Formats: sequence, structure tokens, C-alpha cells
Amino acid sequence: ETASLLAAFEGQGTTADGHLVPLLANVGGAKDAAAAAELGAEGVGLFRTEFCFLERDSEPTVDEQAAAYQGVFDAFPGKKVVLRTLDAGADKPLPFLTDATEPNPALGVRGYRTDLTSPGVLQRQLEAIARAAGQSEADVWVMAPMISTADEAATFASMCAEAGLQTPGVMVEVPSAVLTADAILREVSFASLGTNDLTQYAMAADRQLGPLAALNTPWQPAVLRLVKLSVEGAAVEGAGKPVGVCGEAAADPALAVVLVGLGVSTLSMTARSLAAVAAVLKTVTLEQARELAELALSARTAEDGRNAVREKLPVLA
Ligand code: PEP
Ligand code: MG
Repeated sequence: ETASLLAAFEGQGTTADGHLVPLLANVGGAKDAAAAAELGAEGVGLFRTEFCFLERDSEPTVDEQAAAYQGVFDAFPGKKVVLRTLDAGADKPLPFLTDATEPNPALGVRGYRTDLTSPGVLQRQLEAIARAAGQSEADVWVMAPMISTADEAATFASMCAEAGLQTPGVMVEVPSAVLTADAILREVSFASLGTNDLTQYAMAADRQLGPLAALNTPWQPAVLRLVKLSVEGAAVEGAGKPVGVCGEAAADPALAVVLVGLGVSTLSMTARSLAAVAAVLKTVTLEQARELAELALSARTAEDGRNAVREKLPVLA
């Protein structure tokens, strides 16, 4: 069985009964993207653009940005690439955007919120994305991090439209966005669940603190209930507005099955996890995934849920 988990992922992510779940990669730049394509990723579900500019103390020019983005788009001609606008702040400070003196950076001016304090940066990034997308064959989707309200989603969507970008979306990684997913999905074309931050904010546990690791797991039934609520909220807007997951939860094969059972449409992860997730997903039907999701949702603790699900997945035993 170990061999089957390590074999390279080829083709399409699917359950045993043929329900397709595109398996995408999280990347930070062109080098990652090339490696992800090599490992069989069906596209990019999260391009963390801030990773291109961590060392910069001034805003990169539109030309510099377009070149960096195009390097990723070119690794996936004809495929979906979901680019996330700069998620500066908290665990990923960018010297040209982040106020290092904030008392609570995780609750501060981070992600989309930097538009409040550094107006123009987001427009210039969207201009660079549109320019790079125009030169490439990738199917480019754009999403904003740290969206908290439907109004922010609407503003972001109109900024994308002004830049000529067709497929605007948002990360759902703040509990308020989960609770208003129906209203948010009215404004944008898709949502991607950031389970790393969603867990941090749901559990009120800093994702960077080792002693809080037991609280800070997406196996927490509270977090899984938020995933379920997000999918249900999005469904109010009708079919066709995908809700994916791009947090680390998607890289845990047993949890990936649970997420599919909760109705998530795509999974994006570090590329080295693709083969293992594909192999485990292939062993369950959609109905079985739903049953496993029910087990995890109703577990008393994160650990109970994880154990109960893993016991039912012989490929992981
Ligand atoms: C997340 O929050 O789950 C996520 C995917 O984004 P990041 O880890 O970059 O904050
Ligand atoms: Mg996040």
C-alpha cells in the first residue's frame, strides 16, 4: 500500500465512483509551479503572491509583478491558476505594506485590508495580473485573502472587473465570511476555504504557537462545521459557484476525504501530498465520503474524529 501512496499522481482526482475532485497545488512562485506540474497537479489552487516579494522593502513595479506571475501561469497552459492577491501581514509581513508595530497582527491590517492603508497597491497588482494573464494560456482566477464581509467581496469584484479580470473570488478564512457565505457568493464567482486561518480564528488560537497545536487543527469539529456551513451558504446561490479548500487540511488524505464528503469541489495542497490524497480518495465513493464527514462532524474531539475516520480507511491502516 505504501507504494501506491508514493506513486506519482497522474490524471484526475476522483472518488471510487467517478466523482471528480480536481487536485490542485499551492505554490509560491515559478519554481514551485514547475515542480507541481511535474507532480501531476491539475492546476494551481493557491498562488501565494506575497511569497514572490518577501524580501522587498519597496513595492514591486507592475512589470516586475507581471513577470513573476507569468512564470507561474506558463507552467499550466490551458489549466486553472488561482492567484491570490498579496496576503501581507501577521505571519507573512511585507516590509512595504505591513505596520510592524501593530499590537495584534493576526487581527490587524492584513490581506485585503491593506487596501485601507496603502490604496493603489491592489489596483496595480490587478493590472499586473491582467497583463500577465493576457500573455499566457492559463485560465487565471483571482481571489482576495482575509475577506470579512459581502461588501468587501463586492468591492474586490468591481476592482477585478475594472482591471479586466473575469473570475473574481474570495478566500473564506474568517468566521464572519463563513456565516455570510450566501451573501458573499452573490458578489463573486467562487470561494476558497483557507482552513489554516479559519482554524486559527475559529479556535482563537494563534497558528504560530506550538503549545496550541492541539487546538489548532482542522479536525476540530467546530472547524468542520464551519466548512459545512460555507458549502451550504454557497449553495443558496445555486450550483456553479465552486467552493474549494486551499488550507493544509487538504493535504491530509483522511481529512481530504472528509472535505469532499462535506461538499467541497476542489482540493489544493502542497504538491508533494497530491499522490497520497489521490490514492486515498480513489478508495471511497462519494456516499462513503459523506458518511465519514458525518463521523468527523459529530465527534466529541478532533482526535476522536480523526481516529474514527482513519479506522474506516483501510488504505491508511
Ligand atoms: C489559509 O489560511 O488556510 C491559507 C491557505 O492561506 P495562508 O496559509 O497563506 O494564510
Ligand atoms: Mg490564510
